[in-house]
Formats: sequence, C-alpha cells, structure tokens
Amino acid sequence: MVMATRTISPAPAAGDSFIPRHVGPSAADQQAMLSTLGYPTLDAFIDAVVPEAIRFRSTLQTGAEQTEAEVLASLRQIASRNRVYRSYIGMGYYGTHTPNVILRNIMENPAWYTAYTPYQAEIAQGRLEALLNYQTLVIDLTGLEIANASLLDEGTAAAEAMALAFAAKGNATRNVFLVASDCHAQTISVVQARAEARGIVVRVVDAAQMAADATVFGVLLQYPGTDGAVVDYRGLCEQVHATGALTIVASDLLALCLLTPPGEWGADMVVGSSQRFGVPMGYGGPHAAFFATRDEFKRLLPGRIIGMSRDIEGTPALRMALQTREQHIRREKATSNVCTAQVLLAVMASMYAVYHGPKGLVQIAERVHGRAATLAAGLEKLGFAIMHEHYFDTIRVEVGAHGQQDILAAADSRQMNLRVLEPGTLTIAVDETTTAADIADLWAVFNGNAAADFSYDDVAAGVDTRYDERFRRVTPFLTHPTFHRYHSETEMLRYLYSLQAKDFSLVHGMIPLGSCTMKLNATAEMIPVTWPEFGQLHPFAPRSQAEGYAQMFEELEHDLAEVTGFAGVSLQPNAGSQGEYAGLLVIRAYHEARKEGHRTVCLIPQSAHGTNPASAVMAGFSVVVVKTDTDGNIDVADLEAKAAQHAANLGALMVTYPSTHGVFEESIKDITAIIHRHGGQVYMDGANMNAMVGIARPGDLGADVCHLNLHKTFCIPHGGGGPGMGPIGVASQLVPFLPTHPVVSVSGDQAIGPVSAAPWGSASILPISYVYIKMMGGEGLALATKIAILNANYIAKRLEAHYPVLYRGQHGLVAHECILDTRNVKSAGIEAEDIAKRLMDYGFHAPTLSFPVAGTLMVEPTESESKAEIDRFIEAMIGIREEIAAVERGEADREDNVLKNAPHTATHCTSDDWSHPYTRQQAAYPTAWTRDRKFWPAVRRVESAFGDRNLVCACPPIEDYAPSA
Ligand SMILES: *Cc1c(COP(=O)(O)O)cnc(C)c1O
Repeated sequence: MVMATRTISPAPAAGDSFIPRHVGPSAADQQAMLSTLGYPTLDAFIDAVVPEAIRFRSTLQTGAEQTEAEVLASLRQIASRNRVYRSYIGMGYYGTHTPNVILRNIMENPAWYTAYTPYQAEIAQGRLEALLNYQTLVIDLTGLEIANASLLDEGTAAAEAMALAFAAKGNATRNVFLVASDCHAQTISVVQARAEARGIVVRVVDAAQMAADATVFGVLLQYPGTDGAVVDYRGLCEQVHATGALTIVASDLLALCLLTPPGEWGADMVVGSSQRFGVPMGYGGPHAAFFATRDEFKRLLPGRIIGMSRDIEGTPALRMALQTREQHIRREKATSNVCTAQVLLAVMASMYAVYHGPKGLVQIAERVHGRAATLAAGLEKLGFAIMHEHYFDTIRVEVGAHGQQDILAAADSRQMNLRVLEPGTLTIAVDETTTAADIADLWAVFNGNAAADFSYDDVAAGVDTRYDERFRRVTPFLTHPTFHRYHSETEMLRYLYSLQAKDFSLVHGMIPLGSCTMKLNATAEMIPVTWPEFGQLHPFAPRSQAEGYAQMFEELEHDLAEVTGFAGVSLQPNAGSQGEYAGLLVIRAYHEARKEGHRTVCLIPQSAHGTNPASAVMAGFSVVVVKTDTDGNIDVADLEAKAAQHAANLGALMVTYPSTHGVFEESIKDITAIIHRHGGQVYMDGANMNAMVGIARPGDLGADVCHLNLHKTFCIPHGGGGPGMGPIGVASQLVPFLPTHPVVSVSGDQAIGPVSAAPWGSASILPISYVYIKMMGGEGLALATKIAILNANYIAKRLEAHYPVLYRGQHGLVAHECILDTRNVKSAGIEAEDIAKRLMDYGFHAPTLSFPVAGTLMVEPTESESKAEIDRFIEAMIGIREEIAAVERGEADREDNVLKNAPHTATHCTSDDWSHPYTRQQAAYPTAWTRDRKFWPAVRRVESAFGDRNLVCACPPIEDYAPSA
C-alpha cells in the first residue's frame, strides 16, 4: 500500500471555507432555531439529544478542513499518479466515447444526478421515460420479453439470475448450478460466493462438455466468451431445457447488435453490463447491469421495473410496477435485496442508444468487429495463430511461452495493456475507441516492437466480417420512434431537457426523505469524477498504473475507519444492500473459522429496513424478528429472551442506529453486550450515519461491522436511484475476512469471496466522498451532524402542534429525522399519500411515505437545507393541515378537494371546464413561492393499480404514437 502524505493546512482565509457552503443555516439562523427549541448553544442542545453514554468526545482525526481549491489541487496531484494506458483487457470493461451531449447534460448535470428514486411518479416522468427506453433497449437486444431498470454490475446480475433460477426451479435435491468456464473470472467468483451461502453447489465446467441432469436447476453461459469465442449454444439449451433447468446467458449489448440474440436461441435470462454504451470504465464502476427474462418470471425479477400506466384523466403515465417497486418489502421472502441500483448510468446508456439509433449502433458494432478481424488477419500474416473462427471484438492469440515476455514488454513500451489468459495465450479486446493506428501499433507489438510492413487499409480490404446464419442477427431492434428522432445534437439536447423539466430534483427544492439523506452534492465533489485519470482506467489494469487510486483508497479507508471507530474497511460493496450482505458473510466466515459455523440465527427488529432480512437470507442466516416497543425502541426484554433462546446458534443481530424511528436508543450498548454475551456479532446498518458522524461511532457502541451509504451520508448523489456505494467497516477480529477479488488481490487468505465484480466497487465515484471529507475536516463533519439534528428538531418543534411527532428520545428530542403522524386525519378521508401529492403543488418532494410506520411521513432535512427552505416546508405543511381542517369542518368537499385531486397539472388548471369547488389559484399557487418558482407536475395522480393489471415495460409499439382517433 502506498502511504498517504497528509497535508496539514492552515485555516482557510475568510470566505474560503467550504463548511458554510455545505451547511445551510447561517450562525444567526442556527441561533434562532436553538431559541425556538429553548437551548442557549448548539453544544447544550446536542448534549440534550445524544445520550452521554454513546458520545464520541474527541475530534475525528481526518485532518483539518481544506478549501475547495486546495483539495482539488491535491487530488489533481494524486490523480496524476494514475497512468491511462490503452486497454485491450476486455473482460466486461471497454473503452467508449461518451457523447459529449450526454456527458455534460446528464452525467455532469445536477438536475439528473441529484434526483431520487422515482417513487413519486408524477414528478419523475422524465427519468421514468429514460428508464423505459433502457428496458426497451435491453429487451430488443437480448430478444427476451421483460427487463428491469438496472442492477449493480454484471457479476451480481449473474448471481441474481442464479437466485431467480433457484427460486423458480431449485429445491433441496435440485441444487446444482453449472457455470461455463469461459465466463469472466469475476462473474464466476461472485456467483460462487453467493451460491456457497445459500447451499447451492456450483460446478465450473467447459461449456463444450456441459450437460444438465435432474440435480441441475440452471446453467450460466457467456456469449461471447471471456476469450472472445462466439459459440452456437442451441443444442446445449435444448438439452438443459429437456431436464427442466433454466439457461442464463451473460452477454454484451454491442455484440448483440450484430449477433443473434440469446432470447432467440433458448436463453431464459440474459444479463450483462451496459458500460460500453457511453459510460466510462471508471476503474470498475459505476455502470448499469441489465437483466432480461421471460414474462413468466416477472414476479421474481430483482430490482425495479418501470411500467406504463395512466393518470386519473387517462393520460399515459409511467411508474415503478407494484410487485417490484420494492422487491425487499417481502423481507425474508424476497429473492433479492437490491434497493439502490444504477439509474443514472442506465439513463446514460439508454441515451447513447437514443442518440445513435439502431443504425448508428450497428455501425459502431461493425467497426469494432472489423477492427478485430483486421487485427486478427494482420497477426496471422505475422505468423500467429488465432484460436477462434467466430468472435466479435476479442481475439485469442497463441504466442508461445517465450514470445509472451517480449510482446508484453513491447506493449508496455507503447502504453498498451493486453490480457494474459494463460501462459502463452493472450487476448486482445478492441472497442469503439480503437483506431486503425492502434491496430497498427498492436501489430508492431507482435512484430518485435517494429512497424509491420503492411498497412491497415490493405489488410482491412481483404477481411470478411460477415457472420454465418447461425450467428447473424436478423431481427430488427429499436424500431420505436424514440430511437429515430434525436440524432442531431439539437434534437437530442431538447429531448434531454424536455425530460429533465418533468423531474423534481435538488435543483428545485428540498427532498426531505427520511432515511435517504438528500444533502448537498457539491460541485467541487463531482468535478474529479469525470477526470480521465479516474474515468479511463480499466479495473484490472496493473496496479502500478493506478497508484493515485491506491493512495485515495488508502486515505478514504483510513478516514472511514476513523469515522466508524473500526479497524478495517472494504470499499467493495456497491450499495447499502451489498454492504449488508458482505458484512453478514464476514460474520459467517468468522464463526466458521472458530468452528462455530452453526451460528446462523440473525435477530432483526420489526422496524428494520426491508433490505436487512433479505440480505440475511442471502448470506445464509435464518431471521428471527425482535419486537419494538411503543416508543419505537427495540424491546430489550424480547431481545434478551430471543438471544437466550437461540444462544447456541446465535450468529448476529442487525440493528439500525439511530433507529429507523429516528431516535438515539440509550440502551444500544446493553443491546450489543447481550448479543456478544450469547456468542453473536453485531451488524449495524449505517444508513442513519448522518446522525452520528463525529459525535458517536458504531465501533464504540459495540458494533462489529457497519456499512456506510456513501450516497446518503458522504455526498454521492442519488442519481435518481443510483449509483451508490456501501463500504463496510469492521472490528479487528473481522478484518481477515474482508472480501477478496479473483483478478486483483485485495485481502488476506481467510477472505470471503467477492461481493462485486470490481475490486473496489464503483471506484470512480469515491472521489466525491473523499473531497467532502477533506473539505469539511474533522470538526466540519461533526458540525454537519449537529446541524442535521438541529434542522430535524426545529421541524419537529414547529410542526408538533399540527401533526403529532411519533417517536422521541430523551428530553423529547429526535435525532436527524422525525416521523409525522398523519393517521389522525383519516376521519377527513385524507391519507398520508394525499399529503405527499399535495406537497408537489407546493413545490416539494414528499418525505418518506409509510416507512417505517404505515400511514406516516418521515422527514429528514439534512444539514444542507437553509432555515429559509425549512421554513418554507413548515409553511407548506401547516397550509396543508389547514386544508385538511377545512374538510374536517365540512367547508371543503370530502371528495372534491385540493388534497384528493393533488397534484394539479398546468393542463388541468388551465382547462376550459373547471368544475371544482375551489379556485385554480388555490390549486396551483397556494404560497407566494409557488407564484415565483412554480414546479408543475407532468401528469395527474398516477393510477398504479391499472398498470399493475396490464404490465407493459417497454416503449409502446409505433401504432400507439399515431394521433388517437
Ligand atoms: C437506504 C437504506 C438501506 C439500503 O441501502 P441501499 O444503498 O439503497 O442498498 C438499508 N437500510 C436503511 C435503513 C436504509 O435507509
């Protein structure tokens, strides 16, 4: 590991500090809020909120605050230690040209990257349409019937497919999963790790020798294979189906522009990565994985599906389909734990397809294939044997044992990375960015590091790039008008902005979603993400080329260990759910190493987030539910009883802190002690870490492992539902078990298998958290936490006369979020959902609806919202309470009122027949702010049930675009 050089910087000059840019309320505002709450100082207030027993009383040793300019300058230095070679490694990661119109207007655009998961469909039609385009792209290219709106990476998508196949076909005696040995190495390892915990037996076999029998529930093939071979698997598929098993194919979208889609030759599921559709390699991620299957499996599909529905006027409208909106609301019955996925990257990939259209995509694919074929022909002229007759972009070259050394040295001298498949065998993967000059360079590498005596054009003229009928795609794809309309940049720009205009994001106003921590994603944090030194690295490039990344990881791991009070950190998990799964596997491995592998009971409180039980089951635990008391705390007596009852087999407790009810439980140290006394380990769900950074540390409370949602607490934007990162911190006894990786060794020999396809997960978004931590410094981080708590308590105090605040901790105070009980307005016929929709008319995104308590709203303002914005929210909530009171008093109609009809669209409010008993003013402009900054929802209330009855998850056919009769 490279040792970090820590700079001790002087305090920033007046006006240069980042802290007051990140923290919304000014000093004067903070004072005003404190006096509303009746506390003289911030410290006196925090002392009252946070139980003394859990307080962290020092300053985090993450360095002093630095200015934006200082951090970016030092990160530039670090980035310059990464060296960007031309990559021919392949293995699922390829060079790509991100169209600049997409780079600037989506990837670097806060209107896209600061949005939340589209739960509130009426203000999310833009990204819902983009995701529908993504699903259409995947369905068309794979030749299957239904696709989801992204998964985390190719390796975990393959593991999810295995889980689906097992749910559909597996049982105690049918528990074997065959994996072709020419799948990508990281995919095989991720699948093996996932299978092991579930008691599934994985056999890795040569696809040519593969045969299913009655013990096999599924097989995984790669097409084209990791060495580039394109093989006809029709016969194998038939054999597999004859035994009743399912076929899963890992594939490549660009190859499928030319090749027969697997759905047409027997695949039941097709998975893969859409990275090369315009998303930089980013040293491993983030990228959107895809997952397509047959209609019969739609209820088992992991992740989210976007579907068509309609609003109450019958206007077509999109929303997440019910049965998959939250796979994990099925808790321990769920077949997947995926929550945060890769929305922003799926949007980028879909727009790459929209921009190029099917013709453009075919041209790109043909160019890539032509380059590969030309490369192969030239190498044959130079006397090398090319192993496969059929390939797309990757060729396999036999070089013999001694040739290899010289070839690799020549490649290195030209800053090119090749892949050694096995001694004496190299593969070369070309991509969209490979030029004729690059091919000539590659020939030179194989020609004693000297130019070959033939030209690219001469060789290219002689190659035949056509596929025979077994492989050639004949079915057209992307026939929908969306993929034909926006090929000029002007049209594309306007399409992107038309979608953007339909979506509410942090550029419009507060998104006070409890448990989601929608804080500032500062521009300075985002800028390094698209630096080529971070963006253009292949995840399996030699580590000597990635010293900048190594330094950043080392510093970030140090800082996250300091923040959590732990001994070690793994940056591998790609979301909170993946951190949960990784942390629980680590606990399992620890028990097994101590010959206590039978410890597989996991206690989980009733109020836990749905990912917790889903992850526990995936990691091979059986879930025992612990009660919560009327104050929302864990029922310690019940916990004690369950821990004692299961003491012999107790593996773990999963606990969220502060609780999902937004309170600091005083008993947390007793709780962790009880678990330890009975031989278990404590997993802390760190989703609420924004209430703890700098003032309490999981490690000090007795937790043994904890994940951090970097997309909540540490400023990675939510991207409309991803990307995210869920690194885990662990206590010293668990460090030896942190996840490894099959290609890049990242840990010791007791490590659990990989939980992500890439060694450091979505490495290219880690600079966001890095820059945040450095700009804030140890004291700034603690201040952020204190202000987050202050903002939440100020809201609770101001609203308590209007809505009961459901749970409180000591001194009647909440942590960083508060639950408003809206169940008492049911007498007026008003539901929490009506309030959520009415907030749109006021220019807000709703708080979290019905989690963790049905019929309530959970509000989390974060430290980044100013007092002015918070007051505006309070004003809206009080205004809405008045509107409800008018119904209660009989002044407003019980059915036809501003709440039941919310949200109101511009079309509705300007229509010639306005028949409601309230005015259009009341409908659309309830406050002064709305007159100035109105945000119009794109559609009226979406009818979810209609869409659930008629699931349509691809762009409708062309006929539907015709003007209606
Ligand atoms: C957000 C959240 C999770 C899941 O995290 P993802 O990154 O979405 O997978 C788990 N637990 C709680 C309490 C959360 O709020």
